Amino acid sequence: MSERWKTKDHNTLFQEKRYLEQAENKQQYEAACSVQQIAETEAFLQTAEYAEKNFNRQAATINPAKACQPLGAVLAGLGFADTLPFVQGSQGCVAYFRSHFARHFKEPVPVVSSSMTEDGAVFGGMRNLIEGLQNCTALYKPKMVAMSTTCMSEVIGDDLKAFIENARMEGAIAEDFPVPFANTPSFVGSHLDGYDNMMRSILSYLSEKDNDLQEKLPTGKINIVPGFETYTGNFAELKRMLNVMGVEYTILGDHSDNFDSPATGEYHYYTGGTSLADAAAAPGAKGTILLQKYSTKKVKKYLEKKWRHETMATFVPIGVRATDKLLESVKQLTGKKIPQELIDERGRVVDAMTDSHAYLHGKRVALAGDPDLLLGLISFCLEVGLEPVHIVCTNGDKNFAAEAEELLRSSPYGVEGKVYAGKDLWHMRSLLLTDPVDFAIGSTHMKFSAKDAGIPLVRIGFPIFDRHHMHRYPIIGYQGTLNVLTLIVNTLLQQLDDDAPDHSFDTVR
Ligand code: SF4
Repeated sequence: MSERWKTKDHNTLFQEKRYLEQAENKQQYEAACSVQQIAETEAFLQTAEYAEKNFNRQAATINPAKACQPLGAVLAGLGFADTLPFVQGSQGCVAYFRSHFARHFKEPVPVVSSSMTEDGAVFGGMRNLIEGLQNCTALYKPKMVAMSTTCMSEVIGDDLKAFIENARMEGAIAEDFPVPFANTPSFVGSHLDGYDNMMRSILSYLSEKDNDLQEKLPTGKINIVPGFETYTGNFAELKRMLNVMGVEYTILGDHSDNFDSPATGEYHYYTGGTSLADAAAAPGAKGTILLQKYSTKKVKKYLEKKWRHETMATFVPIGVRATDKLLESVKQLTGKKIPQELIDERGRVVDAMTDSHAYLHGKRVALAGDPDLLLGLISFCLEVGLEPVHIVCTNGDKNFAAEAEELLRSSPYGVEGKVYAGKDLWHMRSLLLTDPVDFAIGSTHMKFSAKDAGIPLVRIGFPIFDRHHMHRYPIIGYQGTLNVLTLIVNTLLQQLDDDAPDHSFDTVR
């Protein structure tokens, strides 16, 4: 290849002489620390003394494993057919939501904002909302707009209900055009609360009239609420398992097609999603299974109270035990048997776990992520003999901590496990440096502390920006469990090869 066409990445580009000289010259204007000062600080950050200071930290959060409320609301909105998420706030917030999802899913993300600026912040955002609704419905022709708020519109106290009514009165949208809305202030809670708030709002909007549930006609189906689910492969796996069981179902909030649409040469704003008619009919289902507990707390309460539904909530079903439990719940609600095909899959996963056990047994692991994912991962680790040691959950509350501790205590592999609810990834860094483990599991944000600790990171969770296509492979069900197992054991085997002296660089592991 000619020099002209060679594209250097920044690893090599910035090692060129001109850039090294430039960096050196800049230092005289930057009052930079000396090399020795940097080395001393780095060494201090690895001590138990610093870890104690770090855990006493009150006034700052560093690298939290969480995102903001409206981001979750956007994901909930994208789960419904022909629905456009609309965020009342500034373009900057929405650019963050779009880029966050686009970097993870490698897909465009249709979301609009009311583009509030300084005058909106001073005089209120009503005009922005009304004009925004008029423009986006005219341009993008959605059948529903799912509206959430940002910090700014919450601080100034925008009244969404009144503003949307005014939009109808002014004729900006039709009288009957559906605009479910949720207040999603991001100075409290996280993306999980935003998802929960928006999902509850959409379900109540579509199933009620004047605050009363519409006529409940039996559908013969069950409902599944996936929660803040960022693996499109999990949707495919879930549907496959239900189809194999012969179960009729409605997924309440299926955003998988929006984030995994085929490249046909034409862009469509809306792909797939739960039809609004199916969602409206969902109260007539036999019951509802929630695949995440901590991102659907309000949804669960709503379904039980208003829809009078039998609900079954689980954490992300990773591993044999958790998948068994999910299928048992489906069986209980539908009366369908678990078919031989799934029983055989279960047997294959158990076989694979046994094959890999020698390389997993007793390996110490640190985990970070959202509560439901962490519970699924802890459950999986304990099944295969991995020892979860540090569990950091920025979004975790005391209920999560108690549930995780109980799960850990259910197995001898969990005795060393400690749960850190509300802590961030800078706390995790101290833990990794003062009480080392063999590897870590978490999102891309954990790569820094894993690198500092010199351990491999298995990327599971959200967001994953620096590896491709991970979200396309399921991590739930027996098939997903096999994927998680493969990912972990091969990471450990790679490490074994990397560390092996010549006489132990074996062909067979
Ligand atoms: S935290 Fe608030 S200001 Fe920041 S992106 Fe989220 S909504 Fe916008």
